[in-house]
Amino acid sequence: MNKLVCTNCNELYNEETETGRCSSCDEPLEVEAITDGKIADDFPMENGIFNRYASFFPFLDLDKAVSLGEGATPLVQIDYGIEDAKGIKLYIKNEGMNPTWSFKDRGTLTGLLHAKAKGYKKIGTVSTGNMAASVAAYAARAGLQATILVKEEMAEEKIGPIGIYGPRLIRVKGNYRTLYSESIRLGKENDIYFINSDAPYRVEGYKTTAFEIFEQLGGKVPDYVIVPTSAGGNFRGIEKGFRELYFSGISSRMPTFIASQAKGCNPIVRAFESGSEEVQQLNEFGTIAHAIENPYPPSGNQVLRLIRKNGGMAVDVEEEDIIGHQRILAKAGIFVQPASATSLAAAYKLMAEGKIDSNSEVVCIATASGLKFTESLKHHTIPVESCNIEELEKRLR
Ligand SMILES: *Cc1c(COP(=O)(O)O)cnc(C)c1O
Ligand SMILES: [Zn+2]
Repeated sequence: MNKLVCTNCNELYNEETETGRCSSCDEPLEVEAITDGKIADDFPMENGIFNRYASFFPFLDLDKAVSLGEGATPLVQIDYGIEDAKGIKLYIKNEGMNPTWSFKDRGTLTGLLHAKAKGYKKIGTVSTGNMAASVAAYAARAGLQATILVKEEMAEEKIGPIGIYGPRLIRVKGNYRTLYSESIRLGKENDIYFINSDAPYRVEGYKTTAFEIFEQLGGKVPDYVIVPTSAGGNFRGIEKGFRELYFSGISSRMPTFIASQAKGCNPIVRAFESGSEEVQQLNEFGTIAHAIENPYPPSGNQVLRLIRKNGGMAVDVEEEDIIGHQRILAKAGIFVQPASATSLAAAYKLMAEGKIDSNSEVVCIATASGLKFTESLKHHTIPVESCNIEELEKRLR
């Protein structure tokens, strides 16, 4: 069993703590980094990523029967126009191609496998949407009961796509950050393992995104990786994946990491810009990018530490730029939800400000499919023509 280490004070733990965080400084824990990982070439990526990357998960019993075919998502190069002059290459990692159409599946699988190994029959999560659907689907697949806690005010449209998998679904009134810690505490009391946004064994699953990017670029580390960031789980997992490739001698350097947020809910960007080491809770916030609308991210401080460690940045983008880049991605053939468009919007902003080096490779994570939140389509003009069948010939000419 690998130990857990505090991301802030380096204190070591043999087991997860009651809170899931460090008992001394209350910062998030992570599984000790792997330094001897190997990519198993005899398992092609298309046949399931966890076999291929199994040596980075020695602490998990990789039970193929609960996999739904997560990962191995496309890395697509797009032509933006503005990058050409400087020789910048832009790539989109399309995480909407996962089994429940978001990157959450990678971490749900590893979190679930850990819960199973610990003997749990019930798992749960606190979520506003994508993670809820993911945990409900994987619980159904594994024959475990799922308890999903959602916000009281959650849109009706989002309930069905979670409820269809058959979880126990509870709308809870109250502060979301309190709900996050209460769920872990009450879960322990009621034998429900909560795999929340930045749970250590959820973060582990996100490492595979880094492994895939490295391989899809032909065994190269990109210069920049831009991650739409809310709680900070995905950002931490991707950073850890690149770190483990580096520690294992598979790669020779680290990328520069950039967190993208919406200006309407930008606690990490504010802390980054003010030079603070701690993210402050926002009391007023609002953005179309609901999936990254967390006013008090539980891994916010760790994201700041990781950014500062290697010259990274935290960048926020305006609502109209989010919608605009959702459109630009659609024109490149990729329909994403608004939160997912913030990474490309941030890339554009940084390129315009001259903060992206010439001839560099930039990977923007597109975290989830646009079909998960079709309401965002009302922000776009979608022209439709109509005519009689007799008129069609004339029209098409
Ligand atoms: C969950 C989610 C995020 C944010 O991930 P964190 O791990 O909470 O930082 C970004 N985009 C989408 C679409 C998500 O569902
Ligand atoms: Zn600590």
